[in-house]
Amino acid sequence: MITRIDHIGIAVCSLEKSISYYEQALGLKCEHREVVESQKVSTAFFHAGEVHIELLEPTSPESPIAKFLEKNPAGGVHHIAFATTDLTGQLKQASDAGVKLIHEIPFEGAAGKMVAFLHPKFTHGVLTELCAPKA
Ligand code: ZN
Repeated sequence: MITRIDHIGIAVCSLEKSISYYEQALGLKCEHREVVESQKVSTAFFHAGEVHIELLEPTSPESPIAKFLEKNPAGGVHHIAFATTDLTGQLKQASDAGVKLIHEIPFEGAAGKMVAFLHPKFTHGVLTELCAPKA
């Protein structure tokens, strides 16, 4: 079952400049920073009420975020992540409904969560992440 929007993933060219914007212009506080080797990204998280903002800067040209920034040089909303109580069951539900999974098997994402993505061609253009706390 999906319980809420966990976070909104935003691709940025510069984590440092973006962090200053969120801190100074919006008054949010950076709560956590982490490099996620599997996705070749450096991340920063902010609380915005119950929802988090996840800033993503590529650490390599092969990063999926680097490819996104090639098409969207200013950066922008990259994905929406839903928290689920049952990641495997949620992936099966999506797959049974005809949605192509980018990851059939969840992997460890930032902040100690297990995550998997649904293909945006099957989600009406929104790259969709499903996430759950690591068991
Ligand atoms: Zn995410």
